[in-house]
Amino acid sequence: MELDANRCKQEAIEYQNQGLVLVGYWHTHAELTPNLSSQDIKSFREFSRNNISSLPNPLAVIVGNGSNSDTIRAWSLQENGFIQASLK
Ligand SMILES: [Zn+2]
Repeated sequence: MELDANRCKQEAIEYQNQGLVLVGYWHTHAELTPNLSSQDIKSFREFSRNNISSLPNPLAVIVGNGSNSDTIRAWSLQENGFIQASLK
């Protein structure tokens, strides 16, 4: 997934005006159990750099096309890299 920096900014402002807070982005993958692609990692790192004051640690949610509980996965981009969310 590639993120359009201008569109991201525009959307963040739009949502703010509706009282919402942008916490990250979700997208779909044609995988049963989705993984971050190298492009996803690049895009989210770039997004973090571009939004260092408003959203330095964005969430990345990827929806796969399976039916098991692991077909929707989420990561948080932290300083040391991506941390995957887990169900406990
Ligand atoms: Zn992706």
